Amino acid sequence: MSSESKMKYVILVPDGMADQPMPELGNRTPLAAYDTPWMDKMASAGTIGLARTVPPGMEPGSDVANLSILGYDPSEIYTGRAPFEAASMGVELMPDDVAFRLNFVTLDRNYTIMADHSANHISSDEAAQLIKTLTPFVESLGMHLYPGVSYRHLLVWKNGPDGAVTYPPHDFAGQLVSPRFPSGPGADKLLRIILKSWKLLKDHPVNQQRVKDCLRPANSVWLWGQGRAPKIKSLREKYGITGSVVAAVDLIKGIGHYAGLAPINVEGATGFVDTNYEGKAQAALKALSERDLVFLHVEAPDEASHSGDLNLKKQAIEDFDRKVVGPVLKGLSAFANWRVLLMPDHQTPLVTRAHSTEPVPYILLDSEEWARAGKKATRAFSEETALSAGNLVENATRLVELLLTTPRQSAVGEATSG
Ligand SMILES: [Zn+2]
Repeated sequence: MSSESKMKYVILVPDGMADQPMPELGNRTPLAAYDTPWMDKMASAGTIGLARTVPPGMEPGSDVANLSILGYDPSEIYTGRAPFEAASMGVELMPDDVAFRLNFVTLDRNYTIMADHSANHISSDEAAQLIKTLTPFVESLGMHLYPGVSYRHLLVWKNGPDGAVTYPPHDFAGQLVSPRFPSGPGADKLLRIILKSWKLLKDHPVNQQRVKDCLRPANSVWLWGQGRAPKIKSLREKYGITGSVVAAVDLIKGIGHYAGLAPINVEGATGFVDTNYEGKAQAALKALSERDLVFLHVEAPDEASHSGDLNLKKQAIEDFDRKVVGPVLKGLSAFANWRVLLMPDHQTPLVTRAHSTEPVPYILLDSEEWARAGKKATRAFSEETALSAGNLVENATRLVELLLTTPRQSAVGEATSG
């Protein structure tokens, strides 16, 4: 059976695109209010509904939610975010290693307020220089630093303890820092690194130049998202499926690594609203001609939401529809049989600028339905239409099973009836 006629699978994830109704949008959500003709056409031809990607009691992180979308139950396998980022950076963790995400952040009012979880999206080059400055002190504590992209970096604690309590910096933007200092096993050493960074970064030439350029300085590090290497079966082991992952952020590439998906790097993929959308769409279509499945993740809507900027989220949603969804649907005509699952991983309401555990809207669509679809959309894709469709999937890990294994119509009913 030629590659073109084999069933192809596409998973499209606009991170953090889901939201709440907003008065300034006539009590509609950004997804409902803004111009998304391609997603509306998909919703008109396929099946839509709501799905719970965050198991009860777990934090609504992108790691937890994207694991669910790929069919992994986070309540069974999740150990923390940083081990996935380590995997995508090619850092192999020993069983007794603990990996931590290290952010460069900006603290205001004499280091008391979390002003910016990204230090104004500091560049990777600037950050690498700061990492160099911090390394001798960190190594003296028996830990190691690995430079990453922009403000996202990795710290590995050899023979580190389990159980430290830490907080994602983007979840308390504009709020006090001290109540969120690390606590629990190993917290003393983690706090020493944060406090030492204040001294070492204060008059660092990189920060002096940033201040001159009216950019926020990276005047502190922040440690969170820790864990040991998770034990995960690949999609090939589970479903006999080969695949690729197209993403800018290490976290998603790392989850892809554990799922056995080949990472596809795209020039100009930034993880922000200036990302190379077209390049990602073309790379995904090319990867699909070589493997059965492609997982395409776009970070921009989530970053826009964390910034609290409505126009930025509008731009991210409309660009995702026009520059990713449209070109991918057009490119899929090269394949005879295909199925698509499109869904945000979680809500990131602009009002709170933080993730929420609310269920998210999804679209399941296949090539037969698309061939039968009319030219004009008959319903919009939004949180509201997904709710009224009545297909609530309590455990989102079921969706990938629906996508990969079963002729769908009947299965959606089964999945939603729990
Ligand atoms: Zn996310």
